[in-house]
Amino acid sequence: MSSKHVTHWIGGKTWDGQAERHGDIYDPATGQVSGQVDFASAADVDAAVAAATDASRTWKRISLAKRASVLFEFRELVKKNATELAGLITAEHGKVASDAAGEVARGLEVVEFACGIPHLLKGGFSENVSTGVDSYSIRQPIGVVAGITPFNFPAMVPMWMFPIAIACGNTFILKPSEKDPSASLLIASLWAEAGLPDGVFNVIQGDKVAVDAILQHPGIGAVSFVGSTPIARYVYEQGTQNGKRVQALGGAKNHMVVLPDADLDLAADAAVSAGFGSAGERCMAVSALVAVDPVGDELVAKIKDRVAGLQVGPGTDPKSEMGPLVTGPHRDKVASYLDSGVREGATLAVDGRAHPISGGAHSGFWLGPSVLDHVSTQMSCYTEEIFGPVLSVLRAPTYEAAVDMVNDSPYGNGVAVFTSDGGAARRFVSEAEIGMVGVNVPIPVPMAYYSFGGWKASLFGDTHVHGTEGVHFYTRGKVVTSRWLDPSHGGVNLGFPVNT
Ligand code: NAD
Repeated sequence: MSSKHVTHWIGGKTWDGQAERHGDIYDPATGQVSGQVDFASAADVDAAVAAATDASRTWKRISLAKRASVLFEFRELVKKNATELAGLITAEHGKVASDAAGEVARGLEVVEFACGIPHLLKGGFSENVSTGVDSYSIRQPIGVVAGITPFNFPAMVPMWMFPIAIACGNTFILKPSEKDPSASLLIASLWAEAGLPDGVFNVIQGDKVAVDAILQHPGIGAVSFVGSTPIARYVYEQGTQNGKRVQALGGAKNHMVVLPDADLDLAADAAVSAGFGSAGERCMAVSALVAVDPVGDELVAKIKDRVAGLQVGPGTDPKSEMGPLVTGPHRDKVASYLDSGVREGATLAVDGRAHPISGGAHSGFWLGPSVLDHVSTQMSCYTEEIFGPVLSVLRAPTYEAAVDMVNDSPYGNGVAVFTSDGGAARRFVSEAEIGMVGVNVPIPVPMAYYSFGGWKASLFGDTHVHGTEGVHFYTRGKVVTSRWLDPSHGGVNLGFPVNT
């Protein structure tokens, strides 16, 4: 057993206190405990807020040019350390090395976006709104803000938040997932090396105790959350009740609709890539494949062929395309949907439990890729988020029935349509009640300069993350009306100001 010990990062250095509670960190590929992570108390959160509040007094006054230069430096350091960062992710999350490197690269795009902060914070100016009066708008930081993040992207999801928050002049407290906490500490040390002043970026490790302390702390002005829908709802309700600005991104059930005129080979490739990449532990993973009649049987046959060729193995093996699930209990829960699906009338087209990796030499949290066919909208494998390598295939008699299926889902994160008909695709884009739509693109994750976020039970709050909405979330608008009299003269006037 390794002696890895992961703790908090407060005020520019590793916390040196003694935690009262800890959690185990696992290597999902072996199932072994690889270390411990400290769980913060409310007092530890207080300490982080105090450090962040202190740093906020100067950081918000630092010039835009200086803030941007720290971000550029941070970007270089993340690039230089990308392989190490990806290695930490694979060791604790289990995803394969190329996938971990991909998440670091997508996170870096947000850092690059935030490097343009001088441009992004430009306000408006109107000369002479009234005689001798000018008006202009500015956006100012909120102060101390926090981010609470899920296990499935331990680098990228935090990077949706903190580059923009910090660039806008806020100080930041990150509460990463307790399942894969190490990436956050490497990121903290890279910020320090980049010249970010102490206390601007802090990390608090832990569980619900830390989250509740963040939600109740009067010193924190805004909270970004990404995770499952029940916790997102809870964070939104508690945070807003306590007067905070909150954006809380929740779970998903992403559909991929395949119209009869689609290129079925392209669609099968896409369904397998998007269904089983990162072992299905992506909030934008394709989970429900909707085949519009009559292409279902042919599509399922093509998918089965491709699934049979997938390389499942430890994330450190360059040949692996899919790794293990994050924990034992999660693996068991995902596998239970195969039983419930069959019980409720689905056909098990591919049973991942029969994959050699499941009972083989590796004792980790393994489940091979699985396909449930003839799934209906009442089955629990459809109504619940599985978040694992299980692709459910539904049949729809018509385009309209497929769109109804998508829109009747309580979730609204991502959706894709596969077709060769531009008119049908255009109609689908307009009719889908979903936040992110792909046309012949199975995982339509927006670039950093657009905003990421779902609709319905996939997002609580008004603003999506990164892009312009991210800049707005982390700043407050102010409008200034200014008069410089020339020559100076006064005079009292109790009337309501009107334009003259
Ligand atoms: P989770 O909701 O269990 O945990 C998310 C965060 O909340 C973690 O930091 C965790 O420590 C904390 N937390 C857990 N239980 C809590 C509780 N009872 N009270 C307060 N805080 C609590 O999610 P997860 O399992 O880490 O991540 C997977 C989920 O995240 C999936 O549902 C997935 O769809 C979702 N997700 C959504 C997006 C998106 O953009 N919408 C992106 C990534 C992941």
